Amino acid sequence: MKNINSFLQAFLIVISLFLVISIIFNFLTQKEVKTQILTLKEFKEIIENQSSAIEKIVVFPQKINVFTKEKIFELPKDQNSSFYDLISLLNIEKEKFSSIPTDFREPQNISLILNIILNLLPFVILFWILWSLSKQTQKGSMQIFSFGKSGIKVYNPNDPNKITFKDVANLQEAKEELMEVVDFLKNPEKFLNIGAKIPRGVLLVGPPGSGKTYLARATAAEAGVPFFYISGSEFVELFVGIGASRVRDAFAIAKKNQPCILFIDEIDAIGKLRGVGLIGSHEEREQTLNQILVEMDGFEKETKVVVLAATNRPDVLDPALLRPGRFDRKIVLDLPDIKAREEILKIHLRDKKVGKINLKEVALRTPGFSGADLANLCNEAAILAARRNKEFIEQKELLEAIDKVILGPERKTKVFSKKEKEVAAYHEAGHAIVAHYLPHSNRVEKISIISRGRAGGYTLKVPKEERNFYFKKEFLDEIASTLGGYAAEKLIFSDVSTGPHNDLEIATELAKQVVTRFGMSEKLGPISLTRQQKEFFLTSDYSEKTAELIDEEVKSIINQALERANKVLELKIDKLHKVAKVLIKKEVIERKQFERLVEDKKGSLNI
Ligand code: ADP
Ligand code: MG
Ligand code: ZN
Repeated sequence: MKNINSFLQAFLIVISLFLVISIIFNFLTQKEVKTQILTLKEFKEIIENQSSAIEKIVVFPQKINVFTKEKIFELPKDQNSSFYDLISLLNIEKEKFSSIPTDFREPQNISLILNIILNLLPFVILFWILWSLSKQTQKGSMQIFSFGKSGIKVYNPNDPNKITFKDVANLQEAKEELMEVVDFLKNPEKFLNIGAKIPRGVLLVGPPGSGKTYLARATAAEAGVPFFYISGSEFVELFVGIGASRVRDAFAIAKKNQPCILFIDEIDAIGKLRGVGLIGSHEEREQTLNQILVEMDGFEKETKVVVLAATNRPDVLDPALLRPGRFDRKIVLDLPDIKAREEILKIHLRDKKVGKINLKEVALRTPGFSGADLANLCNEAAILAARRNKEFIEQKELLEAIDKVILGPERKTKVFSKKEKEVAAYHEAGHAIVAHYLPHSNRVEKISIISRGRAGGYTLKVPKEERNFYFKKEFLDEIASTLGGYAAEKLIFSDVSTGPHNDLEIATELAKQVVTRFGMSEKLGPISLTRQQKEFFLTSDYSEKTAELIDEEVKSIINQALERANKVLELKIDKLHKVAKVLIKKEVIERKQFERLVEDKKGSLNI
C-alpha cells in the first residue's frame, strides 16, 4: 500500500512541476511574441518618423532589434549584409539615427545557447527531481525507482572508526569461531591449496542487541576486507521478483569485490519457513529465498566471499538455509552475564570522561540488559552528566541512566496527586517487603516512585548470582513478590488501582512457564506443553482438556502466591508503613537504606 501511495505522490509532484515549468516557459516565449516583425518599409518608417521614441538599436547578425518603450521591433536580415549597407540601401538619412545608441552584437550564438538551455531546462529539472526522489526512496520504504538494485551498503575496511575484535567484549567463543573466517579471508590461498573446506555461510543467532551486526562488522575489519551489508527486511517488496533480483545484484557486487564479507541482516524476514504466511507475500519471499540458495550453491570453490547472516528467530528459518554449503555454521550470542556486562560498559566508556565509578555495581543492577542497552546506558549517562555541567560521568549518572534505559525518561510534566503518590509508594513497598522476607526471591536493590515512561514506580530486584537454571521455589517466591504491589494496595486501601495490571501479566506469564515449559506442576507432571506460534496459527500439541488443567494450575499457583504475599504483608505491616512513608518523602530508597529500615535479614519469614 505504502508503495502505491508514494508512487502516486511522486507522480503528482512531477505533474505539478511540469505545469509550473510550462507556465514559466510560456511566459518567457510570450515576450518574444510581443516583438513585432517588420518589413523593410516599416523599418524605414519607424526610424525616420519615430526616432525620438527609439531607445536603442541592437544589431545581430541575422536580425535588427529596435527597442521602443512599448515594443520591440525586429527586422530579419541577411547575415552577410551589414547594417550600414542596409541603411544606405533603404536610403535612410544618417542624421535620423545618429542620435540613437546602436549596439553591434554577435550574440546569435548566445541566444541560441540560451534557447537550448531554456528548452532543456524542464527536462533537466525533471531528471533532477526523479533522481533525487529515487535517492530518497532508497533510504525510505519506497523503492520504486531502484528496481533490481540491491541498495547494498558497504563499510570500508580502512575506516579509521572501524571496530575490530578488541572492541567486542566477551563473546569469546564466537570470536574464536569467526577467527577461522578471518584467517581464510586474509590468506585464502593457504586454505585453497591444501583443499580445506571453506566456511561459506555463518549464521549469527541471538536476541536483539546482542551484538550480531556489531560482531559481523568487526569480523570484516579484522580480516581487512570490505563489509557489504544488506537487510532481509529490505528485500520484502510489493512486487514479486524484485527481491530475487536484488539478491542477485548483492551477490554480484560481493563477488566482484572479493575477498569480502556479505552480511544479510534479519534473514528471518526472507528465510521464513516456506509455505507459511500471508498469501501473496510468501511467493515473493520464496523467490527471494530461492535466489539466495541458488547464489550460495553457485559459489565456485575459490570464491572468496563469506556470507554472514543474523537472526533472532532461528526457529522460523527454513531448514533449506541450514544445509551444508549454505549457512551450515551457527554461532549463538547470548545476552551478557554480569562479568560481560562490566566489560561491555568498560568498552563504551573508553572514549568518555569518567570520574569515580563502580562498574561492578552497574553490572549487578542490569540483569537482562543487552549489549545495545549497555551502550545506550553509557550514552545516557554522558548526556546526564553534560546536562549537569559536569566534567566527568560519575556513578550517580550511571545508576540513573539504568532507570532511563529500563523505563524511559522521567515524567516531569505529569504531576501526581498526593493520593497517587501514596498508592505508588505502598505498591512499591509491597513488592520490596515481600521480596525481602521470602527466602528464594531476588534481593531488593532499589525502590523508586519517580514515574518514568508508563510505570508509576519500580522496584529493582537482582538475583544473588546469575545461573543457568532455577528452582521451582525461586519461581514461586518471584511470583509472590511480583504480586506484592497488588497485595499491598488491597491491604492498605481496600481497593486496587490500575497500577498493577502489568504485574499481573508478568506473574501470570511466569506461572504459565512453570507449568507448561518447565513441567514443574504436580498435576500435569514433567512434560513440555508449549504452544508454538507459527505466524497466525496456534498449533497446540495438547487437548482442550489439558488446556483446562493448565488454566487451573496457573490459577492455583497465582492464588497461592498472592496468599503468601498477603501473609508477609500482614505480619510485617509496620515495616510496610515505614518503607512507604520514607518513599513518599524521598522517592528513592537504595538497598542499604532499605535493609536498615526493615532491620530483619533477607528471607527471615519462611511462609
Ligand atoms: P544486534 O545486531 O544483535 O541486534 P548490534 O550488533 O546492533 O545488535 O549491537 C548493538 C550495539 O550494542 C552495538 O553497536 C554495540 O555498541 C553494542 N554491543 C553489543 N554487543 C557488544 C559487545 N559484546 N561488546 C561491545 N559492545 C557491544
Ligand atoms: Mg542487528
Ligand atoms: Zn508493581
